Amino acid sequence: MQGQMMDYQLTLTPLLERARRLFPKKEIVTKAGPSLERFTYGEMTERVARLANALEKLGVRRGDRVATFAWNNARHLELYFAVPCMGAVLHPLNLRLPADQLTYIVAHADDQVLFVDPTLLPAVEKLAPQLKSIEHYVVMGDKVPEGTTLSPVHSYEELLANASPEYPWPHLNENDAAAMCYTSGTTGNPKGVVYSHRSIYLHSLGLSMIDSFGLTERDVFMPVVPMFHVLAWGTPFATVMLGTKLVFPGPHLQPRDLAELIQSEKVTLTAGVPTLWLGLLALLDKERYDLSSLRGMIVGGAAAPQSMIEAFEKKQGIHVVHAWGMTEMSPLGTVSHLKSYQEGLPEEERFAIRAKQGLSVPGVDIRAVDESGKEIPWDGKAFGELQVRGPWIISSYYNDERSADSFMDGWFRTGDVVTIDPEGFVQIVDRTKDLVKSGGEWISSQDLENVIMAHPKVLEAAVIAVPHPKWQERPLACVVPKPDYKDNLTKAEIYDHLRTRFDKMYLPDDIVFIDAVPKTSVGKFDKKVLRQQYKDYQLPEA
Ligand code: AMP
Repeated sequence: MQGQMMDYQLTLTPLLERARRLFPKKEIVTKAGPSLERFTYGEMTERVARLANALEKLGVRRGDRVATFAWNNARHLELYFAVPCMGAVLHPLNLRLPADQLTYIVAHADDQVLFVDPTLLPAVEKLAPQLKSIEHYVVMGDKVPEGTTLSPVHSYEELLANASPEYPWPHLNENDAAAMCYTSGTTGNPKGVVYSHRSIYLHSLGLSMIDSFGLTERDVFMPVVPMFHVLAWGTPFATVMLGTKLVFPGPHLQPRDLAELIQSEKVTLTAGVPTLWLGLLALLDKERYDLSSLRGMIVGGAAAPQSMIEAFEKKQGIHVVHAWGMTEMSPLGTVSHLKSYQEGLPEEERFAIRAKQGLSVPGVDIRAVDESGKEIPWDGKAFGELQVRGPWIISSYYNDERSADSFMDGWFRTGDVVTIDPEGFVQIVDRTKDLVKSGGEWISSQDLENVIMAHPKVLEAAVIAVPHPKWQERPLACVVPKPDYKDNLTKAEIYDHLRTRFDKMYLPDDIVFIDAVPKTSVGKFDKKVLRQQYKDYQLPEA
């Protein structure tokens, strides 16, 4: 016997329509320089319709990719809805990636229109000659800045002013692509993740569960996590669905900017990577702000240190919610809330549990398997690779032959090595991905190694992540000079060589010279050994 419920397509258009009908007065606030820019959902939904008309006039059709190069702001939010709801695919680009990766990504995604924040124009102008697929540039401001080399180029507000405020939203299939993001691969170029309307719809419901992020209409939500990083963890879709007031920091991400915004807009919930909140914590030691509106701070993207969780709660009365996820998972995976019967545990134990990555949320199945592919017991001791499946988890990378390695019997392999305790709390203990996560952004160890090993005086190099108080992890390069140069190779020579290829953020914080890189039985670099050896290494201050 079949169920007899409607085959209702889970697309983003009804979420937008709900915001228009039910919450036209709710505000969307963006920090723009010293002032705040305010729109209401009523204005926003009309502007979204104008934007869809404007995109159509630029030639954007169903399935076409529209890229953004922008901070968290109200115009970016408009693109989050106009592009998918007209049937095209939103593609936010990570502002922090090196030029060669951005060029690759734009070409691989075959982006046709690129929206650029006025503050980021110089970076895009430099890239533009390599961006062969882009047919139109749109500067996200009132007018096209004089002298820009981009062409053909339009201004966002002029496009909207000349477009109709009515748009006949098409009927879409829930499995149509809505958005895409690229994530760093351990080897080679970044890999594309394509989200569907259905996955975003279900993920938005997932974020609204009290046992996950618990977003509600009553919240004032400030996404500090960038809109190019897993679509700001999917939060813009959930907040529009719910009619939540939104506060965007724009490019103003210094601790003082964030504290002022929380205070003035009475933010109740915010989300971002630990590095940001460590900065805020340090500021709050020195300066006073009224952050009493804040009922929660969601921390993910990298491990939230237990000391940070405790300091926020004990000193500032701010409740920290630790969450784990991935670009491939939209990103919601686990959230670390205590179970009701754990509330009575001693304080130290409660904090230790909450510093774990947490319980899988409804909608995400988990298991962890050892190297032979056997499931490990949930005893908090055995460890294995965490694998996941669910309706907002990737089924394959976009046009990428590396896809096959990432799946096992219908499960997605996260590359995170975990223990799972008898209560089901996941704890990350290592990762198989050979990457460094600095301030929430990936740095490829192998890219650095390849360039270092191209130096004529270098025999071998292994780059590992070592703990860092601010960035959580920073790269350390372990270098073996060729025998003839044992006493004749300096750190400065290696840095000079690296600077020809990498921006400052990607350079190792230190270089150590070693006799040989430890090897596994099959002769591969055994970085586990180096990571263990250098786990307490004191990096020099920047
Ligand atoms: P991304 O796709 O850039 O969001 O990176 C996802 C990866 O970041 C995960 O596979 C983990 O390695 C790491 N990560 C994310 N959240 C956490 C967390 N709460 N604790 C530790 N690592 C995390």
